[in-house]
Amino acid sequence: MGYSRLLARYGRYAGLNRVLDLLPTKPLLLALNYHRIGDPQQTPYDPGVFSATAEGFHEQVRFLKRRFHLATPDEALEIIEGAKLRRTAILLTFDDGYRDNYETAFPILAAEGVQGAFFLPTSFVGTNHIAMWDMVAFIVKRSRLRRFRLPCAPLREFDLAADGEASVIGQVLSFYKSSGQGGEEFVAMLEEACDAPRPGGSERLFMDWSEAAAMLAGGMAIESHTHSHPPLSRVSGAALAGELAVSKRILEERLGHTVRFLAYPFGLPETISPAVFDAAREAGYRAAFSFFGGVNVPGTIERFNIRRQPVCPAEADTFQLRTTLMAAKAA
Ligand SMILES: [Zn+2]
Repeated sequence: MGYSRLLARYGRYAGLNRVLDLLPTKPLLLALNYHRIGDPQQTPYDPGVFSATAEGFHEQVRFLKRRFHLATPDEALEIIEGAKLRRTAILLTFDDGYRDNYETAFPILAAEGVQGAFFLPTSFVGTNHIAMWDMVAFIVKRSRLRRFRLPCAPLREFDLAADGEASVIGQVLSFYKSSGQGGEEFVAMLEEACDAPRPGGSERLFMDWSEAAAMLAGGMAIESHTHSHPPLSRVSGAALAGELAVSKRILEERLGHTVRFLAYPFGLPETISPAVFDAAREAGYRAAFSFFGGVNVPGTIERFNIRRQPVCPAEADTFQLRTTLMAAKAA
């Protein structure tokens, strides 16, 4: 058991939360990042994209409201651009625009009077697109074979019996990313290796334009997550500029508002670069978010690399403790 989980468990008996309430909150911007909200056990797709259950998320929002200042996206932009802060400001962000962001997260945020920033890949909106991670998970979950190999890597065995479903989904996805294979070719190979078909694609997984418009009217910020969700460090020149400009233009035309923020797909250090930051600036974004943890301390904020802290269900028990310690510790 990790140290913070042990502390959280002990804290239930020792009134640790009351002690945590006494800790200072430093003047910094903590941007939390969510993907899907719902029960990861129930999905036929990738359970790894879920950040919290509906109940867990609601509890987190109530806690954050009580403990910190929940910043609106406008306030976050002011902080990024140098506004003074007296205490920790939390910004809630959501990537990919899954339908549950509209159906589940939006009503909770609206009921609590909290504004979130939602980042949509514009080519996914209102379509029956199935992202690669969901496609792989769907096929692996239905595999008729407990052990399988892909023809492009005959020595590598994926073992559902030994490693379990979640681990094998992760292994196949990282193998796909490193293989350099085309998506269609890879899916066809995986279907054959698992003797299981891909999803029919009749279910709409992502929010549509009327849902995005309703969220905007309800006070949420709807921002860009590029057009087709590529790792931007692998795209250059006109293609990179296009991913950033097309997405911004489509969102602005469809929703009639100005897009200010970009969230980099994947957002890990290897998927962004100074060239990507420059392209984001040139496309007219005022700030852009990465995804590898950390807080943003005024005076050291990098406008095109705003740090975000991922939220995941495995750490649900320690959410309050970790958030409080992050807000108290930063220099
Ligand atoms: Zn994404």
